[in-house]
Amino acid sequence: MVEPGRAYFDFCTEYNADKIAASLRTGLTTLGLEGAIKCGDRVLLKPNLIMAKAPRLAVTTHPEIVRAVAMVLKDCGARLYLGDSPGFGSLETVLEKCGFKPVLHEFAITVTPFDQESVVVDTDNLVAKKLILATAASEFDKVVNLPKLKTHSMMGATLAIKNLFGFIPGLKKAAWHLRAGHDRDFFARIMFDIYRQVTPVWNFLDGIAGMEGDGPTGGTPRNFNLLALSADAPALDYLVEKWVGFPEPTPLSSVSLNLGLVSEESSCACGPAADKPLTRPIKQAQGTAAATFPGHKLWRRVFVKRPKVSRTRCQHCRVCVQHCPAQVMKLIDAKIVIDYKRCIRCYCCQELCPYGAIRVGFGIGS
Ligand code: SF4
Ligand code: SF4
Repeated sequence: MVEPGRAYFDFCTEYNADKIAASLRTGLTTLGLEGAIKCGDRVLLKPNLIMAKAPRLAVTTHPEIVRAVAMVLKDCGARLYLGDSPGFGSLETVLEKCGFKPVLHEFAITVTPFDQESVVVDTDNLVAKKLILATAASEFDKVVNLPKLKTHSMMGATLAIKNLFGFIPGLKKAAWHLRAGHDRDFFARIMFDIYRQVTPVWNFLDGIAGMEGDGPTGGTPRNFNLLALSADAPALDYLVEKWVGFPEPTPLSSVSLNLGLVSEESSCACGPAADKPLTRPIKQAQGTAAATFPGHKLWRRVFVKRPKVSRTRCQHCRVCVQHCPAQVMKLIDAKIVIDYKRCIRCYCCQELCPYGAIRVGFGIGS
């Protein structure tokens, strides 16, 4: 029987599909999740494919995780699909660069770009009564969520719940960033509205190699040697945050706690890695401390860290200019200029810069 709040944590030190699949099978048995997917089910795999980066950089879910999951799901008799909406660039390009093409071919996995939209109206949602999601969110019998363990400048960490933000198609993501502004709690609640619509049956976290520091794209790869599985995405996130040593819950887990979805008593991890957390806690992203700075907007401008562009690293590609939700970035005389008065500190620019040219730090002035 499936018990909410439970997660299975295992150690795994290498991207070896056979070993990963063995761990997944043990986790499914331990948690009573084997029966969640039936023969003939159309199953959508949702990895983290934020941008076109080689697997060794630990920005995206590793293709061997997909291979292992496909091995297990093929044994169940499932029909496999895979999709995401990258931050920028076509899904085809991202799949190629991220090393997914061989596994897609080997297991006859159908690629499903999240470019078709459906409108979902749900008056019980937390903030978004009307959501525009990729049609893929409602097209399949089951969703298997394959997040990557990484820090995140705006939201502290990107784990299972945050990975579902990819179901917001393309540029609509920027609109939600703009609407949320500085408000991390609001932004977190949007993720939970998406989670209500797309509730994965399995969440299988790739934490073998993840990222610390200025994630989700500009941080430092780190071997956490962790695989984590749960049917309960909020519980998985809450427990992984504790395992890696976050001093306090991220905005997403704060919402989970406030909604009573997780708690110290009801959420528990089992498995070989469960009671062996990181001895050296994860290094947080620079922007995290700014998460909920209260007070007048003038003081927020001073005390909330802001994006800064390295002139030596910047290649003038204009990706940041094109994707800044607040439209406050300009390329002028071969220099990126930011209107800090209107900057909402979402750090999308840092997240999407392909050259790691944007850092966040303190600054005074306009
Ligand atoms: S995305 Fe990065 S490299 Fe491209 S213009 Fe912006 S700062 Fe420069
Ligand atoms: S400049 Fe960067 S942090 Fe500021 S609003 Fe634009 S994308 Fe967000």
